[in-house]
Amino acid sequence: MQEWYDAIASAQSVDKLEEIRIAVFGKKGVLAAEFAKMKSVPNEEKGAFAKELNEHKAKLTEAFNVRKEILALEALEAGMKAEAIDVTLFGRGSERGALHPVMQTMDRIVEYFVAMNFSVKTGPMVEDDFHNFEALNLPKYHPARDMQDTFYFKDELLLRTHTSPVQIRTMKQEKPPIRMIAPGAVFRRDYDLTHTPMFHQVEGLLVDEEGKVSFANLKFILEDFLKYMFGDVEVRFRPSFFPFTEPSAEVDISCIFCGGDGCRVCSKTGWLEVLGCGIVDPNVFKAVGYENVSGYAFGLGVERFAMLIHRIGDLRSLFEGDIRLLEQFK
Ligand SMILES: [Zn+2]
Repeated sequence: MQEWYDAIASAQSVDKLEEIRIAVFGKKGVLAAEFAKMKSVPNEEKGAFAKELNEHKAKLTEAFNVRKEILALEALEAGMKAEAIDVTLFGRGSERGALHPVMQTMDRIVEYFVAMNFSVKTGPMVEDDFHNFEALNLPKYHPARDMQDTFYFKDELLLRTHTSPVQIRTMKQEKPPIRMIAPGAVFRRDYDLTHTPMFHQVEGLLVDEEGKVSFANLKFILEDFLKYMFGDVEVRFRPSFFPFTEPSAEVDISCIFCGGDGCRVCSKTGWLEVLGCGIVDPNVFKAVGYENVSGYAFGLGVERFAMLIHRIGDLRSLFEGDIRLLEQFK
């Protein structure tokens, strides 16, 4: 019998203890076999034999219950140890997001003009023909409308192709002087290395009494702005054409990649085109009912600025939503 007491006391798992229980207390177990021997025990010894056997049965049962209790406590303790939380450990931290590089660039542009006392205006992205084209000296069948591939809806509604309609809306609502910028998304049917169907512009407009606003004013503020954005660059103005300004100019900065020597980015010219500008065409003022005023306007593509500042080669990568690109702008 002693071997069974030892076996119970040293059982290392609930499964092992269960095996022992069957071997000891089961129908074909050790105790059953012992009790079966009663038949062959002489009558006068039967009493003592049964007494001893019943004592063993009681002690084995108690030993079994004690062992079972101990194993249960050990299992509980092991489980708590495994699930324990060390509150003194440092946390893993949380991932920080970042503003999209286009928005960062836009903020910087807006920051400059707000400091120069321009107010920020916004308008609808779904525009009508009048505000997007007609009032900007782009009557129907004007050849310059071909310059912009437009997304049209029914009833002469369209996705604005520039933020210029915000200037028209502002001039219709307010009296001069006007000193505003219009940042926002615009839409054109274009998709390649340097064009996406949606991109961002910041346009500016300044209107004051006739004779008070000159091309020299425009040149000063744009030169100052471009140095603010790109550092110590040279700035040049080239005559150009826009329907809503006359005279008009395109503005270049000396190439920030080669310093003007000529490279792949500037097509060996040493110059990078960055914005368009001009003196507001009298027909635009006529469309909004302004008289005896003069003004200048300018416009730029925010993605172009972001690409130059951060040296991004493919415009489309700004809109693919690849987290690896965004992680670089934290
Ligand atoms: Zn260059």
